[in-house]
Amino acid sequence: MRGSGEWQKTQRSDRLKRIEEYNKNPKLCKLCGKIIPYDKKENEFCNLKCSGLFNQPPKEIPNCLWCGNKVRSVRQKYCSVECSISHKLKLRAEKIINDGKSIGFEQIKVNLSMFK
Ligand SMILES: [Zn+2]
Ligand SMILES: [Zn+2]
Repeated sequence: MRGSGEWQKTQRSDRLKRIEEYNKNPKLCKLCGKIIPYDKKENEFCNLKCSGLFNQPPKEIPNCLWCGNKVRSVRQKYCSVECSISHKLKLRAEKIINDGKSIGFEQIKVNLSMFK
């Protein structure tokens, strides 16, 4: 089997060359932007998690519980700190009212400068 070792060596360096070429202009994961390895260059994503997340329908951005504007991300309930505090104060005021104590929400003024 003379020569087969030589052949394997050429094959390997060809592959390394191709990988080197590929790495100069690699394919990037469509979701996270990571480089997709040469061996997986047929894939659109770096891993199954990314492809799964990408194929999920985008979640609807909810409205602010206080003012009704769209919030910035699906995890948020309020569009701003002010809205979050205003709503919490109102809930607290309502609770106090329900507990039979005479305090109206109108009496509570949110000092917005406190949060800047
Ligand atoms: Zn990815
Ligand atoms: Zn809001």
